[in-house]
Amino acid sequence: MREANGDVIVVGAGLIGLSIAFELAERGASVRVYDRGEPARAASWAGAGMLAPYTERITNEALLALCASSLQQYPHFVERIREASGIDPHLRLDGVFYAAFENEGLSTLQRHADQLRGRGIRCTMLDRASALAAEPWLGAALVGGLFKNEEGYVDNRRLGRALVAACEARKVRIEQSFSIEVECDARRVLGIRTDRGFNGARAVVNACGAWAAELRGVPPSCVPPIEPVKGQMIALNVPAGFVRRATWVPGAYLVPRDDGRLLVGATVESAGFEQRVTAEGIHELLHAALAAAPSLATFTMTETWAGLRPGTPDGLPFLGPAPLDGFFLATGHYRNGILLAPATARSIADAIENGESAALAPFGIARLALREPQDDTERRVEERITRS
Ligand SMILES: Cc1cc2nc3c(=O)[nH]c(=O)nc-3n(C[C@H](O)[C@H](O)[C@H](O)COP(=O)(O)OP(=O)(O)OC[C@H]3O[C@@H](n4cnc5c(N)ncnc54)[C@H](O)[C@@H]3O)c2cc1C
Repeated sequence: MREANGDVIVVGAGLIGLSIAFELAERGASVRVYDRGEPARAASWAGAGMLAPYTERITNEALLALCASSLQQYPHFVERIREASGIDPHLRLDGVFYAAFENEGLSTLQRHADQLRGRGIRCTMLDRASALAAEPWLGAALVGGLFKNEEGYVDNRRLGRALVAACEARKVRIEQSFSIEVECDARRVLGIRTDRGFNGARAVVNACGAWAAELRGVPPSCVPPIEPVKGQMIALNVPAGFVRRATWVPGAYLVPRDDGRLLVGATVESAGFEQRVTAEGIHELLHAALAAAPSLATFTMTETWAGLRPGTPDGLPFLGPAPLDGFFLATGHYRNGILLAPATARSIADAIENGESAALAPFGIARLALREPQDDTERRVEERITRS
């Protein structure tokens, strides 16, 4: 890759920004990452780490294809990061179980299974006895479920730590700065200005997650209409192996970790940028988890937290070149940013290297010009951006 003044700057050190930086550095670019907070701490730390495009029931074909490709890339992606960092991110692709507690729910899962098989996705319907044999902690009201063989999860907090170390091992500089403004002329990006002065770059990437609409210094046509979508989660302390695989139940999902934590998530709330953990949020999660598995009631609740997903008006991320030479967007991954990290890193690096990436065409910001705002949320976001 060509070296130039400062080469590439990534703003935002979440899993998305760090994955892009790592990919570019492995291809030989000189990369700096700037964040106003602690790296790998925001949504990337708060998430559950589910790698489950089929369980998420993504309906947009282009997004589903990107998610499926990212899932395929995960083992190699994690292996490269483990090798560079010495930290194992605990990737587990041993399937995700979707439990049903009513016959109607089971019929819906059966239809979903038929669709998945039509696409060549491996999955198995389990009756009550086989489902309880697979996950004995589920409650007696279980009627069966759908097991999707290829999905799984990663420990996103370990992945974040590993990526920081992997980036440093590949000579990526990760810097903290509270004030960051992009500088550009009428045609192209020039670099960024921080509280310590100007830093030139031939390419700047906005990977600011839920705050991506607030990055200053670029023309309005380059500002993605991102809306934060709050998610609360809890962790229970359960004996290792108690829950064997990531499991969806009505109203919640449960994801085991190797250290004995069982994550239960997640609420979906429109609450602006506030990240309080609330009694109502915890109640919602515990109610869903205990209705599905009363056996969880005696375990200790060890942690509660909240994070902000980067939501977009049409549910698709903003990925690729913006209408300002050298300026790229990598944000708006909403519920699937951990899953989409490998595919995002690869295609954004391709776009920076070659000026474009065919895989990213459906995710360009230009698509906004083609549609009218759909609802009040979209109008609010667009007004906020026009004002800023
Ligand atoms: C509760 C919850 C559960 C989730 N579960 C899953 C899941 O199971 N699977 C999955 O794939 N995804 C999941 N997600 C979504 C996923 O976490 C996000 O899509 C992903 O982490 C977004 O990554 P990011 O790097 O874009 O953003 P973030 O991780 O939020 O990072 C953005 C970074 O940009 C920095 N920043 C922002 N503005 C500026 C600025 N102006 N200057 C400098 N730095 C700035 C921030 O400090 C932050 O470090 C979940 C999210 C939540 C909240």
